[in-house]
Amino acid sequence: MGLNNQHYHELADALGIVTPSPCQPFSPDWDGAERVRLYVKRDDLIHPIISGNKWRKLWPVLAHAQRHNIRHIVSFGGAHSNHLHALAFACHRLGITLTAAVRGYENAPVTPTLEDLARWGAQVQFYDKVKYRYQQQPEGLADLQRHYPNALFLAQGGATTDGLEGLAPLWEEFDTPPDVLLLPIGSGMTLAGLLASRQQRHTRLIGVAALQGQDYLESLVNDLYNSANQSAHWHIDHRFHCGGFAKSAPALRQLCEQLNRDTGIPVEPVYSGKVVLALKTLLVERAFAPQASVVWLHTGGLQGARAQSRQGLQI
Ligand SMILES: *Cc1c(COP(=O)(O)O)cnc(C)c1O
Repeated sequence: MGLNNQHYHELADALGIVTPSPCQPFSPDWDGAERVRLYVKRDDLIHPIISGNKWRKLWPVLAHAQRHNIRHIVSFGGAHSNHLHALAFACHRLGITLTAAVRGYENAPVTPTLEDLARWGAQVQFYDKVKYRYQQQPEGLADLQRHYPNALFLAQGGATTDGLEGLAPLWEEFDTPPDVLLLPIGSGMTLAGLLASRQQRHTRLIGVAALQGQDYLESLVNDLYNSANQSAHWHIDHRFHCGGFAKSAPALRQLCEQLNRDTGIPVEPVYSGKVVLALKTLLVERAFAPQASVVWLHTGGLQGARAQSRQGLQI
């Protein structure tokens, strides 16, 4: 999209984004942790609302909108969507109208996410499961485009090839790129962006699938990141979805609570908890070379867990 550092910083300043995010040493008392050098890159601290990888993915799209004076964005997501939440806040701040196509029902109980969307002036439209899927297919999209001819359309999860370059600044934040980078996978966009923008192939990327469905995520990543080198240094581990998206076994919840107690790092079970579970298991399996630097990319996302958490989340 022809964006540069200046576009990044102008937008970051306008929204109060703080990067680089800290990369902190992390030393849990887990079996195998002492054999490697563990770090957590705290993208959850980038901004109190536009958390983690949502900033990384959205900034090129928002910068493009600003440069071309696009004042209306249409996007898609569920009733707890971190993507819509971050996007709605950013649009509110930038004076862009957001139409949010939400998978759900108007008369269903309102979620904390939807309350925030309303507060930030997003126009929410509800679609049932079937209609929601239709609206994102070429025919359904064309319908919406006829309806909103001047709007910029952004896929669910912000998964668009236009956003791939958004991940490039993350690499620049490392003094030395780590041996291993571990991150959760939803749409696959973050992984695809990291693959597309890395300068060298030293870092092994391990995606932890938050969704059920072998191979489906690999093809999403490959669709986004049209790699000439399919054997590039990455894979997705499918063992830790715990039953699927937004499903969470009691053991997973417990792990999240314990990590929060022991380290002060907040995690939710939809994405980050699964990465923590994966990391713990991979350490037991001795999956990393001795003394390897292993970074867990904390992608944020705590707002989405508010509906399930007893205490609620302060943001
Ligand atoms: C959206 C989200 C993801 C998934 O990112 P993708 O780019 O869709 O794979 C991971 N973690 C958190 C916290 C998220 O909010």
